Amino acid sequence: QWTRVCDRLRKEIGDKAFKTWFGEVELGELKAGKLRLYAPTRFVRDWVSRHYGDRVLAYWQAVSPEVSNVEVNLVPPPAPRRPNEIIAMPPVPAPQSSYQQPMPRLGPSIGRGVDEAFQGPEARYTFANFVVGKPNEFAYAAARNIAEQDRPLPERNPLYIFGGVGLGKTHLMHAIWHAIRERDPKTRVLYLTAESFVNRFIQALRTKNTGQFKELFRNVDVLMVDDVQFICGKEASQEEFFFTFNSLVEQNKQIVLSSEKPPSELQDIEERMRSRLGSGLVADIHSSTYELRLSILQTKAESARVPVPHAVLEFLAHKISTNIRELEGALNRVVAHGQLIGREITVEMAQDVLHDLLRQADRKVTVDEIQQRVAAHYNIKLAEMSSPRRARSVARPRQVAMYLAKQLTTLSLPQIGKRFGNRDHTTVMHAVRKIEELKISDLSIAEDVELLKRQLQG
Ligand code: ADP
Ligand code: MG
Repeated sequence: QWTRVCDRLRKEIGDKAFKTWFGEVELGELKAGKLRLYAPTRFVRDWVSRHYGDRVLAYWQAVSPEVSNVEVNLVPPPAPRRPNEIIAMPPVPAPQSSYQQPMPRLGPSIGRGVDEAFQGPEARYTFANFVVGKPNEFAYAAARNIAEQDRPLPERNPLYIFGGVGLGKTHLMHAIWHAIRERDPKTRVLYLTAESFVNRFIQALRTKNTGQFKELFRNVDVLMVDDVQFICGKEASQEEFFFTFNSLVEQNKQIVLSSEKPPSELQDIEERMRSRLGSGLVADIHSSTYELRLSILQTKAESARVPVPHAVLEFLAHKISTNIRELEGALNRVVAHGQLIGREITVEMAQDVLHDLLRQADRKVTVDEIQQRVAAHYNIKLAEMSSPRRARSVARPRQVAMYLAKQLTTLSLPQIGKRFGNRDHTTVMHAVRKIEELKISDLSIAEDVELLKRQLQG
C-alpha cells in the first residue's frame, strides 16, 4: 500500500519534489488507525507534515480506509554511543573509563554534577576527511605524528597548532582524538576549549572543588585545549593552566594546543607561559590557496546528493577566499537551493543564491578608485592627491581620501602614504585622526565621507 501511496504522490508532486521529501521517509507502524512515518530530519518531518500531511492521509484512506490519522515522526536516534565514550568521570577513574569528553560530567557521588551539555568530538572531523594541501600539510603531518606516537617526544610536546579562523584547527584536534582512540581505546584523551577550561576553573573555585578540578586534568594521558588564546588576560586561569601543563609534561603526557596566534603574538600572557607554549612543536596553518579550496570543495561536493558542476566549484573557490567554514557554508547553500527548489546548479544560480556573501568578497576598493572619486567629488584635479600643495582646498580632500584608503583597503599606513605623493606614514595617521574628529564636529564632512563610502562600496 505504501508503494501505491508513493506512486500517487510522485505523480502528483513530481519526481524531484518526491525524492527530496519522501526519498528517505520510512514507513512505520499502523496502530489503532494511526499510521506512523519516520522522517530523517526535523526539517523534513515538519515540511512533510505541513505540506503533504493531508494528501498522504487522503491517499492512504483511498487504499485502506481504516487509517484515520497519519503522524510523521523523527527517526528514532541510533543506538546510544558506546558507554565508554560518554560515561561520567568517576571519582577514581576505573581502568575502562578511558574516554574523555569535552565536558566530562562529574559523577553524582562528588556533589553536584556539571550540567553542561555533552558535546562529543565531531564524527566527521577525521584525518580521512581532512584535505591536505600546501597551506596545511605541516600541521597535518605534525598532528598525525602526535596521534601515532606511543609516548610523546619531549621536543614535540606540546604540539601547538596555530592559524586563522576557520582553517581547520579544531578539525585537526578532533582528528587526533579519533585516531588516538582508534589506536588504543584505553588512552584517556581530554579535549576541551580554553573557554570551557576557564569556566570549569571558575566553577571549581566557586564550589571550592579545586582539588577535584586538578585531579581531573592531571589524570589524563593526552590533554587537548582548543583556542588557547582565550586564556590570555585571565590571570588565575592562566596560572592554573600553567601548573596543569607542567604537571602533565613532567609525567610525559602529550599536550596539544590550538590558537589563532603564534605564542610570540599572544597578548596579556606571562612570559613563562609564553615560552612554555612554544617549547614543543609549533605548526601553523597558512591561509588557504585556490588549489586547496578547490580540492576541499570537490571532496565535499562528492558527498552531496546532487551533482555540482565543476565550473560552480571553481567559481566558489575563486570568490570565497576567507575561510573554509564559509566556503563549506556557501556550497551547502547552493546545494540546498538546488535540492529544495529544484533549481539547476549553475554559476549564475550560485551568484544569485550567494549574493550577500559575494558582495562582501567583491568589496575590494583600490586606492586609485578612492582618489578618483574623492577628486571628482571635491572638484579638484586627480594630480592634487599626490601633489605637495597644502592649501586647505586640496589638503582636506586628500585627507578624506587617505582616511577612506585606511578604512576600505587593507593597506598599511606607510603603503597608503606612498600612494599619496610619497608621504610619510605619520602624515596618513594624522589625516585619519583629523577626519575622525571632523566627522563628529563637522556635519558636511561626515556626509561627504558617508556618501563617498557608499559610492565606493557599490
Ligand atoms: P578553526 O578551528 O581553525 O576555526 P575548523 O576546524 O572549525 O576551523 O574548520 C572549519 C570548517 O572547515 C570545518 O567544518 C572543517 O571541517 C572545515 N575544514 C577546514 N580545513 C579543512 C580541510 N583541510 N579539509 C576539509 N575540511 C576542512
Ligand atoms: Mg576552532
